[in-house]
Amino acid sequence: TCRKDSEKIWLSVSAAPIRDPDGSIAGVVHVFRDISEYKEIDRMKSDFVATVSHELRTPLTSILGFSKTLLRTDARFSDASRESFLLEIVREGERLARLIEDVLSVSRIEAGKLRLDLKAIDVGPTVSQVVKNMARLTSIHNFVINVADDLPRVSADPDKLYQVLLNLVVNAIKYSPDGGPITVTAIERDGGMRFEVADQGVGISAEHLPYVFERFYRAARGKGGVTGTGLGLFVSKSLVEQMGGTIRAESEVGQGSRFFFDLPLAPAEEAEAEDKIAS
Ligand code: ADP
Repeated sequence: TCRKDSEKIWLSVSAAPIRDPDGSIAGVVHVFRDISEYKEIDRMKSDFVATVSHELRTPLTSILGFSKTLLRTDARFSDASRESFLLEIVREGERLARLIEDVLSVSRIEAGKLRLDLKAIDVGPTVSQVVKNMARLTSIHNFVINVADDLPRVSADPDKLYQVLLNLVVNAIKYSPDGGPITVTAIERDGGMRFEVADQGVGISAEHLPYVFERFYRAARGKGGVTGTGLGLFVSKSLVEQMGGTIRAESEVGQGSRFFFDLPLAPAEEAEAEDKIAS
């Protein structure tokens, strides 16, 4: 390695002799190749394996702990305690399921095997479902849903739209450790649908903001015990793009973050056809 502008770069060097026609060595050619990028990917991959293993172990430990406690024959628990243990098991189980879903999505995205099932869908029920499921997991955040009743349908894969909104809401919860409002909005805009998830949490500095959608990128690495894999936003971005949309973020440290993405509206005929089937 050597130092360049205080940044470490990795070089691979190979050397080959140059011979005169009579076979004597006239010189040596050295080829320097900058392999920093490969090294970086290598490092990120091993970090990733360590992080994912850790992220899998944490919820599993609590699932096993609570289940074993419930199975104890020498102790009796009140209904309220049993319910809180069961809620914890469900919460941690769902965390495991989300993590596995994200890891699987990454491998499908990388293999170019992500299948989408685009349909004309109403955004209201999807947004409500995400908020309902996530609101159970926190008592210090309050959720505001900003979705008008008469919005047109979007063209999206229902499960993937759910996954993207879920990832954004999970992050909004995770990165506002002191609680506060989380607003989920859907409005028609420029002939498409704009979705927004806004929080008033820790925010992201301008230095990190451009990279948060990159695979494995974590701006808040190791800070305040907030764990993660750096996959959620990468997966969300890929899914939104595959559905024909774009995703971006705005944020200010200490003020909060706003993630927004646009999706195309469903073609009018398709929406009408589905109405007929439904009626
Ligand atoms: P993870 O949360 O697992 O680390 P993500 O891909 O979901 O991975 O997010 C990447 C990084 O972006 C996070 O590590 C965090 O630093 C930052 N981030 C994402 N969402 C928010 C948010 N709502 N507020 C502050 N920082 C965020």
